[in-house]
Amino acid sequence: MTDAHCHLVRGESRHLICEPRTGEVGADDIVFYGTHPWYLDGYNEAALRARLEANPSAGVGEIGLDRLKDRNISPRMREIFESQLKLAAEFQRPVVLHGAKCWGEVVHAVQRIIKQTINQTNQTISRPPACLFHGFSRSGGLLPDIVALNGFISVGPAVLNDHAVNYRKLVQEIPLERLLVESDATAETTAEIPSVKDIAAKLAELRGFSLSALEEILEKNLENFLGRSH
Ligand SMILES: [Zn+2]
Repeated sequence: MTDAHCHLVRGESRHLICEPRTGEVGADDIVFYGTHPWYLDGYNEAALRARLEANPSAGVGEIGLDRLKDRNISPRMREIFESQLKLAAEFQRPVVLHGAKCWGEVVHAVQRIIKQTINQTNQTISRPPACLFHGFSRSGGLLPDIVALNGFISVGPAVLNDHAVNYRKLVQEIPLERLLVESDATAETTAEIPSVKDIAAKLAELRGFSLSALEEILEKNLENFLGRSH
């Protein structure tokens, strides 16, 4: 079972891990480098470029916009997000996106930057970089745009909450080939966060699959997200 988005290594066999601390990463884990919208200090485009050049299997993340901590999105937040998105598009790396309370704006920014990068570099980009909409919990209205962006959506611990009626409805609407599961566990939250196996089991029940059948689908989706089956 793969945890499609987390910040530390736990019991799962594979992790897509954003900005891990040294020594934590297993042989099968995929590392993502990026500056989260909550921690913008010290962002350096040249440094990120160098890390991506040095690590051909690394993705870009967790990056994005945020209205959870502050209702206003600062120009600097947008600028840093766009700078990182451009690098992801240029290097054709998968991206993990954050968009708490502003997913529509994140979708629009991704649409714009990908178009721009393709025009500017004149590259033949066979497909836009795959985007993981992590923690996405809005209604289904944005799903067609997300699919068109080569987007994937990772279902998180909220699906285990029996009161999360709208979220359970959403996860049933996500196209099957775009589903992933995530813990979003950090060093601070790991004790209270369920395993992705528990999340997948609930998702399997909601989608009418056995756990093993769903697991097979999720692993295939993971390979597509990472661009390995093209
Ligand atoms: Zn996260």
